[in-house]
Amino acid sequence: MKFSTIGLFLTIMLLMGACRPKEDISLESRSSVSFHDALDSAKAYFGLGNSDLHASLKLSAHDSLILYEAFLKSMSGKNNQTDEENKWLYGKYEPFTVAITHLLNLKAGLSWGSYSHTGIPVAVFAKGVGEDAFHGFYDNTDIAKKIIKIAKFQSSKASPSRPKYIFLFIGDGMAWPQIQATEAFLSHINEQDSSNRVKKNLQLTQLPVCGMATTQAYNRYITGSAAAGTALATGFKTSIGTISKTPDHSGNYETIAEMAKSKGMKVGIISSVSIDHATPACFYAHEPSRDNYNNIALQMATSGFDFFGGGFARGEFERSKSSDPEGDAKSILDVMKEAGYKIANTKAELNNTKPGQKCWAYSSYDADGALAYSIDRKETDISLAEFTSEAIRLLDHQNGFFVMVEGGKIDWACHANDASSAIHDVISFDEAIEVALQFQQSHPKETLIVATGDHECGALSLGHATTKYNTAFEILAYQKLSFELFTEKVNSWKSIQKIN
Ligand SMILES: [Zn+2]
Repeated sequence: MKFSTIGLFLTIMLLMGACRPKEDISLESRSSVSFHDALDSAKAYFGLGNSDLHASLKLSAHDSLILYEAFLKSMSGKNNQTDEENKWLYGKYEPFTVAITHLLNLKAGLSWGSYSHTGIPVAVFAKGVGEDAFHGFYDNTDIAKKIIKIAKFQSSKASPSRPKYIFLFIGDGMAWPQIQATEAFLSHINEQDSSNRVKKNLQLTQLPVCGMATTQAYNRYITGSAAAGTALATGFKTSIGTISKTPDHSGNYETIAEMAKSKGMKVGIISSVSIDHATPACFYAHEPSRDNYNNIALQMATSGFDFFGGGFARGEFERSKSSDPEGDAKSILDVMKEAGYKIANTKAELNNTKPGQKCWAYSSYDADGALAYSIDRKETDISLAEFTSEAIRLLDHQNGFFVMVEGGKIDWACHANDASSAIHDVISFDEAIEVALQFQQSHPKETLIVATGDHECGALSLGHATTKYNTAFEILAYQKLSFELFTEKVNSWKSIQKIN
């Protein structure tokens, strides 16, 4: 079928769809799912096709064709990784979901160049004691080296000039494009009239000192979260996939969190992904592979650190899957309890934890042990900002504290090229930074806040010629759920087709 024929066919289908009565978009009870139904969902959950909401949401015949082809691929289950064309078009993601987010993002004025990490340098922001050291252009290993120097972690003498409270914020997959897209989105939704638009800043970009850092790993120019996390946690380059060990795995690198602990400071590790994921792991564990979740999770208990907060331990899933009859039957939760940690998995339990009590707090989690995307977050879920403020309450101590907070799902949303979910996660990450800034205001001479990313993800860019360089970032607000939850809906459609 030539394009014009398909275009005509689609136009007729769309007109038929437009004449049909408005239907419930929950399709689970249907006997089959048509392209019309799928378009209804795109409209309900992403605003796509609803030009009453915003002129930029209008679908052209070409847009519909792209969605139709992706819908057919999704429903035929042909989105496997062996299909080269699919891999190029949709990465490892559901074709219909990706077609929707790409289309919405393009109409907003954003585009994506890859489904993976890139070598774009990351921004580094700092405020507080020693902030001036973070000006300029340097390497990611220098960030840890600067913190070690400012905190005098390697000096045996007690020094009154070292910061008592240190915060390190890491936005996974967050470089300039993710920060810029979020500020552009906030500016657009605040004032949709482009002639009257006021720039809306994140707290992050208001930190007084700004620098930039390169991110390459020891053995690969494009880094991953384990090698980048090791650089940020220890000041050393390592090989891809390695958690705070030398590139050949023969030795361990001491982490800044371990140095803080040995100086008598309290230590807290917080992440919105599983607590044994690469970035948080780099601060308390030493493993040849980031995939050794079980071994990594067990090192939480031996670290002696005071607070772990965020997602669950993915290592627990591996442990429960293990059928080794000789194996250790204890769960990670049991191991943590035996090591003296209180387990808190609701807001109330976390709020009732007393300062000085070691604690592992987690909120409701997904199949990977991670917190929900911020765009999908429920009232009862504990946010990154709440984990951060509770860490401050629990760890405030005469010798001070070191707290690392990771916004881990910015990266995951960017891998899937879902700008709205990434932006909502940058905003949640920024709310956690705001908590630290409020603390800093009451301890200005004793606090250092450093915030950075570990690498860019998705080759996100702002502006392109298909919109004649016009931007409508505000339309991203019509997206109601993450690509992940929408993909669950697409999967439910596929199962309906199978039955019939
Ligand atoms: Zn990643």
